[in-house]
Amino acid sequence: MDTNKTQNNLLYIKELSVVYKAESSSLTALNQISFAMENGQNLGLIGESGSGKTTLALSLMGLISLPHKVEGEVEVLGKNILSLPEKQIRKLRWKEVAMVFQNSLDVLNPVMKIGHQIVEPLKEVEALSIKESAGEAQKLLELVGLEYYWKDAYPHQLSGGMRQRVLLAMALSCSPRLLILDEPTSSLDAVIRKEMFKLIQSLQNKFGFSTLVISHDLTAMQVLTERLMVLYGGEILEKGLTREVIEEPAHTYTRGLINSSVQAFPYKDLWGIPGETISSRQGCVFAARCTQALSECRISKPSLKKLNLDREVACHQDGIVDLLRVKGVYKSYNVNQATIQAVKGVSLRVRHGETVAIVGRSGSGKSTLAQIIAGFIPPDGGEVTFFNQAVKDNTPVCKEGGIQLVLQDPFSSLSHRFTVKDTLMEPLQINKIGSREERLERVKEALLAVQLPIANSFLERYCSTLSGGQRQRIAIARGLVMKPKLLIADEITTMLDVSTQANLLRLLKGLQNSNGFAMFFVTHDLHLARKIAERIIVLHQGQVTEEGSSSFVTEESCCFHTRALMEAGL
Ligand code: SF4
Repeated sequence: MDTNKTQNNLLYIKELSVVYKAESSSLTALNQISFAMENGQNLGLIGESGSGKTTLALSLMGLISLPHKVEGEVEVLGKNILSLPEKQIRKLRWKEVAMVFQNSLDVLNPVMKIGHQIVEPLKEVEALSIKESAGEAQKLLELVGLEYYWKDAYPHQLSGGMRQRVLLAMALSCSPRLLILDEPTSSLDAVIRKEMFKLIQSLQNKFGFSTLVISHDLTAMQVLTERLMVLYGGEILEKGLTREVIEEPAHTYTRGLINSSVQAFPYKDLWGIPGETISSRQGCVFAARCTQALSECRISKPSLKKLNLDREVACHQDGIVDLLRVKGVYKSYNVNQATIQAVKGVSLRVRHGETVAIVGRSGSGKSTLAQIIAGFIPPDGGEVTFFNQAVKDNTPVCKEGGIQLVLQDPFSSLSHRFTVKDTLMEPLQINKIGSREERLERVKEALLAVQLPIANSFLERYCSTLSGGQRQRIAIARGLVMKPKLLIADEITTMLDVSTQANLLRLLKGLQNSNGFAMFFVTHDLHLARKIAERIIVLHQGQVTEEGSSSFVTEESCCFHTRALMEAGL
């Protein structure tokens, strides 16, 4: 998917821009995008609605006309269709590039029989007699596995899967070199969807066409494409091998898309990417929604940069940055003249804005590790860095945008002598942050964020008079007043009843989604971990025994300790 022109290019797109014009306004749907596709390649295109995916497909078909503005180069097999007259574009359309549109009911003519419609594209490029048309219709229906008698049916008499097959047959009727599939499986159930994948693959083996697949469906991407391109606000933010992009997205936007997908995280509570604003075209188009945006991001536009042979990302920080790195950390305690090795050479990383769960049985070293990361206890060996700075004492906890730790026991982690207000004001006062009024404002913001009242009567209540769930919310709010970039949640739900536990977790995940902090979630419960985290690290007797995406660790792991934790939670 290089941007260089080669002899083998099926498609070569250079600085393509599309602006839709209305009477008094205009909308940039594509902004100077460039990429190339070689013969035989299968490319996937992902992005939210409005990212420009369908506009790109329509541009390749030469279907965007005045008053809308299309600029740049769109070369199909060496011919720039933007400079061709409509008559010649029509020759290329269907014959070289064909498209299976989504919403089959909208695309098919409701009052025309299938047998007539299926040969329409063919009739556009070739003059066919009635007999020839009938013969072609039969061949095409057979090609996509439909009995010939369906020729006399009207579109509404066919199921969604059958209509999709008809559209596929129409698109393939002129033997195109490139087939564009726009959401080929979005309206199909799981069984029909699988059949559709098989059909597309077998037709591809037979005819050798390339595909450009537009879909929200990550499974479709994994099955049908080898390469993936991520579009946002009409710009390309990431390109790479499909498997690698899905397993380890490099751009914060790609990660947000994948984290919102039920296929990637079948057990996790899903949250979309917060915000909808497209930043000004001057800076990074994703800056308003990015969890790691810098001031530079709003001023200058990042261009696509190669991270390795196959991966490119448009980001001033070369993609998602590592927030926390733990390298070869050791810790031991002396108990009754015996030395207990609590943490043995643990290495891990937490990236900006992600949730990593560390899972292990009691005594596996999880809480010790959490305390080392927060800087509360020093390691015997190894190194912890936060924002590339070594964590030596509890400095990250004492500053805004640092690390905050919420402990498991809401009864002992808050002083019973403190009111709610004192509890939340304290970290701001100790660290001399803001004026008295500003501190109070922050306290109220944090209380609202954790869905607790801000009335004086509540602010003046002693923490000892609150329920366990309320105290844990206060503990989270106490962390939030410091606007952390990393929140360590150490078994925060173990002392709560199941209903309070569920509410608290949902609240925490919602806060993370809206505030963009990363979370290090310490738990003994692997089932809980897969509901909340993108990545899971399993700790056993102070050592990391497994690490991977939450679906891999909980579904495919062969590790004995992981399996034991899974079974223990059932
Ligand atoms: S860090 Fe900056 S350049 Fe990179 S994606 Fe975020 S806003 Fe864009």
